[in-house]
This record gives sequence, C-alpha cells and structure tokens, in this order.
Amino acid sequence: MPQAPEALVTRAAKAEPRWTAVVLTLFPEMFPGPLGQSLAGRALDDGIWALETVDIRDYASNKHRTVDDAPFGGGAGMVMRPDVVDAALRACHRPSDTADAAEPLIYFTPRGRLLDQRRVEELAAERRVVMLCGRFEGVDQRVLDAHGAEEISIGDVVLSGGEPAALVLMDAVVRLLPGVVGREESLEEESFARGLLEYPHFTRPQTWDGRAVPEELLSGHHERIRAWRQRQSEEATRQRRPDLWARYVAAKADEESS
Ligand code: SAH
Repeated sequence: MPQAPEALVTRAAKAEPRWTAVVLTLFPEMFPGPLGQSLAGRALDDGIWALETVDIRDYASNKHRTVDDAPFGGGAGMVMRPDVVDAALRACHRPSDTADAAEPLIYFTPRGRLLDQRRVEELAAERRVVMLCGRFEGVDQRVLDAHGAEEISIGDVVLSGGEPAALVLMDAVVRLLPGVVGREESLEEESFARGLLEYPHFTRPQTWDGRAVPEELLSGHHERIRAWRQRQSEEATRQRRPDLWARYVAAKADEESS
C-alpha cells in the first residue's frame, strides 16, 4: 500500500516549520545525510525547517515494485515510468487551486536551467518545495510536463542521481532561513548577493609560511578596507566569471543612466 509521505527526519516539531522540503527518491536513506550536521542539522532539530521523503518505489504497482523500463527509441539505460512517478507526485504535491499558486515542483536534471542564488532566494520564500530525484537515464518527460515540473541543473556535470542535487539546493535554501546563520550581514556580503564574487578572506597568523596578509586589511581604516574588498570582488569576477561580470557592468550602466 502506498503510504502518505512521512516526516521521517523532522526530529523536533515545535512550531510550524518555516520551510518544508519534500524529496521524492528511490534512496530515502540518503536523507538528511550531510544536512543532519552543523547549521542545517541544528535548524532541523530546532524545527526551523522540515524534511519529508517519499519513497518512489512505494508507488510501483507490480509485485516486483518495478519503477523503470527500457527507453522508447532504444539506447542504453532505463527510464523512470510516468505512472509510478505520477502516483508518487499525487501523494505529496499540491497543484494550484483557485486560491493559491502551485507550490514549486522541481525535477533535477542536467537538461534543466542552472540553479543560481536568485532562484534559491525565491525558493527560500516559499513554505514548501517538492523535489523529484531522477535515477537511471532520468524520468519519462510526459509526467514532468503533466505536473509542470521546473527542471533544474546544479551544474554542467552528470551525477548518478538527483539526490546530491537536492542536498545542494536544500543546503543553499536552509542557510537563508531566518535564525539559521548567526549574523545576517554575513549573507549580504556573499558571492552573488551583489552580482559579484566575494573578496578573499584572511585570518591569523598574520604571517604564515612566509606569506603576509594584504596590508589594507590591517589598516583598521574602514573605507580603505571596503574599497580594497570591492576592487578584489570586481577583479575576481571579471577574470573568473565573464558572464557575471557582463551582467554586473550592464546593471551598473543601467543604474547610472536612470
Ligand atoms: N541521461 C541524463 C543523465 C542521467 S543522470 C542526461 O544525459 O542528461 C541520472 C539522474 O541524476 C538524472 O535523472 C538527474 O535527476 C540527476 N542528475 C544528473 N546530473 C545532474 C545535474 N547536473 N543536476 C541535477 N541533477 C542531475
């Protein structure tokens, strides 16, 4: 019998969690995995967020609990069946009704739009996000289309399953939830927050392995430090990420002309 999604890893349900992640997977035991540690783990214990897993295999209809089949058109590998994935999605994804927009449903795939910090911020503003992890060659396209899944990639690499991608997305969201990261300012300065990569960091010892810390940082002069960091951010972005740099320059030009 298919079961309702269980709050398997919500370890303390105090108040209503600010954010709930629902992960459909063939490997529920992979969760919370690394998110049970450190900042995210503490926030999970505190009930700031909740994580529910749905075992897709529970929705297979035959006695062998088959979830995949050979691809039409031939080729290597197997494809996750639309009927099985549909049944799993129906058990946990709330589609749009007249009152509310549909809650986000994400399918992880290298064919998806690249995940970026802006999308992470938007997802952090939601109450509940449903994530579907593929295995094998992926999921039958029809069920993705039928449910209006948003296809997201975490980078131009091929993983063996969507689970690490779901962990990446959840990690990035959870640290933005109020009360998870100690000092909120530390989020504002970060890479991407202002369209630039962050400046480099240094700590004690002041000289290590014959290498000194940039003297601007030792000056105690706030404006000089700020200007140095800004220059370092711009320089790193220009050299390492011409795509971000072009967008930053265009946005600045826009700002100045308006
Ligand atoms: N045949 C696919 C790769 C399948 S990898 C292709 O060439 O596009 C198996 C599963 O891993 C996918 O269904 C997807 O859910 C996940 N996956 C692999 N790479 C990913 C990436 N870069 N981002 C997000 N999910 C990924």
